[in-house]
Amino acid sequence: MPAVGDLIDAKCGKCKDVRRHAVVAMVGSEVVKVQCKTCGGMHKYRPDDSAAAKSPLAPKAPKAPKAPRKTGGVSAAKKAAALSAIRKEWEDLEAKTVESGAKPYDVNGSYETGDAINHSKFGMGFVKKVIPPNKMEVHFADSVKLMICKL
Ligand SMILES: [Zn+2]
Repeated sequence: MPAVGDLIDAKCGKCKDVRRHAVVAMVGSEVVKVQCKTCGGMHKYRPDDSAAAKSPLAPKAPKAPKAPRKTGGVSAAKKAAALSAIRKEWEDLEAKTVESGAKPYDVNGSYETGDAINHSKFGMGFVKKVIPPNKMEVHFADSVKLMICKL
């Protein structure tokens, strides 16, 4: 194990070659800083420089796929609260809308804020906001979605 003051071979950035260096600083058993005996320059010890330079085409390990973001703790609770608020509002709207009935949803349909629509997949929804030129925000039972429509 080297010690501070020992001489070791290391790549020197200024000399662009492997030169004799004196160990200047260590962390545990690892040399972290050296001083070049040729040019006197002090720099971090880079033991892997020469090996890496010799094989630039070495296959890199594939990046690990990103782990799915965890939804736990506070954010999950917030999400659940937001979801139940959406649900509650939707139930209120649905209760008011039974008699007037809902229009079937159609991308070519024309809707207005407050309209009740019936979506084949998401079920009953209410138009919260129309967004020109061709979108509307629809409040479904458990989510608010942006839908295409004609205005
Ligand atoms: Zn040097």
